[in-house]
Parts: sequence; C-alpha cells; structure tokens
Amino acid sequence: MAGERGIRNNGAPVAPRKNASTSATDARPQIRPTTEGWQQKMGPDGRPVLQFAEPKRGKPPVHLADLTPEQRVARVTELGLPGFRAKQISTHYFTHYTSDPAEMTDLPAAVREELVAGMLPPLLTEVRRLRTDKGDTIKFLWKLYDGALVESVLMRYPGRITLCVSSQAGCGMNCPFCATGQAGLTRNMSTAEIIDQVVQANAAIAAGELGGKKRGETTPERVSNIVFMGMGEPLANYSRVMDALRAMIEPQPHGLGMSARHITVSTVGLVPAILKLAAEKLPVTFALSLHAPDDLLRDELIPVNSRWKVDEALDAARAYFDATGRRVSIEYALIKDMNDHAWRADLLAHKLNERGRGWVHVNPIPLNPTPGSIWTSSEPAVMREFVRRIEAAGIPTTLRDTRGKEIDGACGQLAAAD
Ligand code: SAH
Repeated sequence: MAGERGIRNNGAPVAPRKNASTSATDARPQIRPTTEGWQQKMGPDGRPVLQFAEPKRGKPPVHLADLTPEQRVARVTELGLPGFRAKQISTHYFTHYTSDPAEMTDLPAAVREELVAGMLPPLLTEVRRLRTDKGDTIKFLWKLYDGALVESVLMRYPGRITLCVSSQAGCGMNCPFCATGQAGLTRNMSTAEIIDQVVQANAAIAAGELGGKKRGETTPERVSNIVFMGMGEPLANYSRVMDALRAMIEPQPHGLGMSARHITVSTVGLVPAILKLAAEKLPVTFALSLHAPDDLLRDELIPVNSRWKVDEALDAARAYFDATGRRVSIEYALIKDMNDHAWRADLLAHKLNERGRGWVHVNPIPLNPTPGSIWTSSEPAVMREFVRRIEAAGIPTTLRDTRGKEIDGACGQLAAAD
C-alpha cells in the first residue's frame, strides 16, 4: 500500500531508492527549507530563536472593548456619569461601529466628548487601504498608538464576509516561509486593538466599500467570519485573544454577537495553550498549521516543532475535538518539492486516521510564492494528487485558494512595511 511506503519513509531523506519501483512523484527532489534574502535569527543553540514573551513596552490606552460589561459600568461611574451610559456607548461601538461623538445624538452633547475620551480612545490609525481590482478584498494597514504596524484583510465570498485579523505586532515564531516572522515580535496586541479591527471593517462594509448594500438600504452586512490568520501567533497572546473571542461572541450591544463557530483560531502548535483553549469550551473553530507530517521537515519549517513535535501537536488537536466536538482544520501550505510529496500525503492521512475518524479535515493551500526563490507553490497536478491521496484515506480535504496576492494581502505576505 502506498501508505505503508510513506510510513517507512517518515523522517528519512526522500532521494529515490535504487531498485525501488519509484513513481514519478517519488522521484521528485527534496528541497530543504532555507531562507533567501533574509536570515532567521539564531539562538546560542544554533536553532531559530523563538520569542514567547514580548519585549517590555508600554500599553495601549484602556478601551471599552478591553472591559467586561460590569467593568464598563464601573468605569463610566468613575467618570462621574450614570451607569446606564455604558450600555449606550457600547451600542454605538458594537452596533453602529462608531467612535465619533457627533453621531451619538442620543447622548447629551455635554457628556459625549468626555464619554468618548474615557471609553473609546483611538486605537487604530489608518495608514493605507488597498483594494483588489474586483473590489472583493480590502487590506487595511493600521498604525497602533506606539507606531507599531499591523494589517487586517477583509474578503467577500459568496454567502459570507471574512476578516483575517492580527493578534500581535510582528511574530516570534520565526517560520522561514512567512513574511511576518522576519522582523520578530514587536508586541502583543491588546484585546481592544484586536476587536477594533472588526469594528473598523464593519464600518467600511456599512459604508459600502466592499460593494453590496450600504447602511440604510436594508440591514447592513457585516463581518460574518473571523480567522486569526493575520500577523502573530494568537496562542502566544493567550489572555487577550481569549477576551477578544468573548467580546466577539457576546450578544450586542455588549459585544459583536458573532457565532463562535465562525471564528477560527490558528496556531503553529503551542500544545499547552491548545489544551487550555480546549478547556475553555468556547466552540470556536481550531486550526493547526502543520505543513509537514514528519518531524525532520517540520523542525525546519515550523521552528516551534523543536518544543512540541508533530505527534504532540496532533494529539492536542484531537483533544480539542474531544473537548468541543468541533472538527479541527489542518492547515498545509503546499510548497513545491519541499512538503508536497505523495508519501507525505499518505503519512499525514495515516497520522490523522490513527487518531480516529470524523474529527478533522485538511486544508491544503498553495504557498504564496516569493519570486525567484525555492519558496514557491506546488504544481497543480501535484496538489491534486496530494488532495486525492488524503481524500482516498477518508479524510475531507478542501484545497483553498489564496486571496489578495496583488495587494500583498495573501497568507504569509503580511509584513506591514510602510
Ligand atoms: N501564527 C498562526 C496564525 C498566522 S499565519 C499560525 O501559524 O497558524 C496563518 C496561516 O498562514 C498559517 O497556516 C501559516 O502557516 C500560513 N502561511 C504563512 N505564510 C504563508 C505563505 N507564504 N503561503 C501560504 N500560507 C502561509
């Protein structure tokens, strides 16, 4: 069986074996991950540096979205205003997507400025907004209060609008194929900085920027799906991401009133944090960026694999399913001659099936190429074969398309250079 062959090949160099009846796919070369045009930061142990803790920095101002509904009432009271103003200001922010005192006509003019200054300090200043020609994708470049830059990408699909949000300025995970990792971690984003990306996107949609109906013409559309696949490693910023998830799910006017199932948290595989997330029992969708089923390759592709190996990461993903009943996603960027070999598809399928049936689906995505480098997407026929093999093993598999390449808004392109 093809699968058997793959399993024996686990971790072994994949040069074609003499006397073996190698098929065309097996005979393909094995390219090893190395960076081109930049150097990964290395530690004293000769391995890529992993930054879990953020460098010491100031904190952004406290905002309504950082607080629980009770804390909001307390803060409004501290400002010398009646507690019920908290609900009014929450409605403006979470339902009308506005932080502009002039629009808050239900509030006495005298208190508007004070309430906004105390509860809705500006967090994201727009630097640039790029649109694809078709107008179905918008990339926002934001400057945070301290000058750090982050991006979010808004995408319209049939029947849904997805926002790809950032959870950190930069990223400490140092993956050699991802543009965000190249400059390291600047800092964690606050809960409200994460939430404000959604509110600003909703305001842009309501203004008709993504096409469709504007506010005032029937019910305005809004972001229906969120993926934590922008800049940063969400599970390395655990408590703020968790508070952001709660504010996304909390019904309006105290939160965004989104469906947890439509929110995807994606991680390189921080095992203790995955288990913690599973115990929260928030039914969000969980995605593991696997990209290789064998430790030999994954050690190089995802440096955090030096801490938590493929099997541990997959066990944690399965534990997530057990705790929540939510089918998990395995993300797999297909990279030409690096991780797209038939035996790897078989090994991946084997490792997933070893852990049971019906708990997982695989999302291969063509790597966004860096021109002239070893980092390029697999050939279409190779991708189809990769998908075919996993599906043949009974695992649902969806080949994803990338979006927003022309505006550098596609996966792994978010670098936030100004
Ligand atoms: N740190 C988290 C979330 C951010 S990246 C994580 O790694 O999951 C979101 C997804 O984009 C991850 O699956 C990541 O591996 C993938 N990605 C990064 N660079 C890419 C590239 N150049 N092409 C395609 N996908 C890429």
